Amino acid sequence: MTRIDARTRLVAVLGYPLGHSLSPLIHNAAFQAQGLNFCYVACPVRPDDLPAAVAGLRALQFAGANVTIPHKQAILNLVDERSDEAEAVGAVNTVVSMESDDGIRLRGDNTDVRGFLSPLGGLLPSLQGQDVVLFGAGGAARAAVYALLTRGRPQRLTLVAREEAKAAALAESLQSAGPDTELEARSFGEAGHAVRRSILVVNATPIGMTPGPDESPWPRATDFGPGQTVYDLVYNPPRTRLLREAEARGARVIDGIDMFIGQAAEAYRQWTSREMPHRVAREELERHLNRRPT
Ligand code: NAP
Repeated sequence: MTRIDARTRLVAVLGYPLGHSLSPLIHNAAFQAQGLNFCYVACPVRPDDLPAAVAGLRALQFAGANVTIPHKQAILNLVDERSDEAEAVGAVNTVVSMESDDGIRLRGDNTDVRGFLSPLGGLLPSLQGQDVVLFGAGGAARAAVYALLTRGRPQRLTLVAREEAKAAALAESLQSAGPDTELEARSFGEAGHAVRRSILVVNATPIGMTPGPDESPWPRATDFGPGQTVYDLVYNPPRTRLLREAEARGARVIDGIDMFIGQAAEAYRQWTSREMPHRVAREELERHLNRRPT
């Protein structure tokens, strides 16, 4: 364990409740592996106390923070500046403390956007001119849609939600980020054609997450096949039913651990000016999720 002394820099995650947060595990493992004198703590903050908690980050000169449910939107107006991603997604998941002549300035970022993109790598350029489908219309879907519109630029992106109106509202609010992509909204019952013709299928719903690992957002696995990539943002369990069935049908699969580490690595770089050791973070996470490292 890194020794805590007079020079230790503090980072916190602010949320409520916080019992399940895995962020302290991976950040502290990474700090320790790199011998950085940082310590990451989980701070449950009730909604009414968020302004006081943010003032506390400033006053106590924290290096930064992660922000999670239910504060991701409320903190937008409590920071001094916001990244383009935070503005576009309408949510902050990372705060970075910066010294200035006027004292400490807090910058709000949304690292889910780059975290989502990190495991897509070489696939991104091949999305142009192709179809992509995404399940869900919540916070993670918003970050993923913005990422796909600005960096993937598919020909058509179909958003699928149990209430089509929610998918339509998400499409309308982000269309300007990707004017060349045709955004369409569908209910699950109407999305079969979109799933079959898409080269990338993204799950941004919690379906398949513990304690419902036998569920799938798209149980009709015969719609999957070679040439497709199926990307599940759920990371607990890492091998969801969706991924198991898609892989069995010959599709390439990406689990949610890569995004989880990707979004953490973006925050880590901004707090420490160092690259997060991915392998250390992944092994720590997998150990915790009770899976043998790949
Ligand atoms: P959220 O804001 O609550 O949104 C969840 C979305 O899923 C909503 O559109 C919701 O629809 C839909 N949904 C929920 N249950 C459903 C069901 N039974 N059938 C159909 N649709 C359903 O949650 P979120 O923050 O976007 O997170 C979504 C998932 O992504 C979670 O599993 C989370 O762990 C994962 N995630 C992973 C990472 C990562 O780093 N890997 C990052 C962020 C999130 P309604 O609006 O109709 O309820």
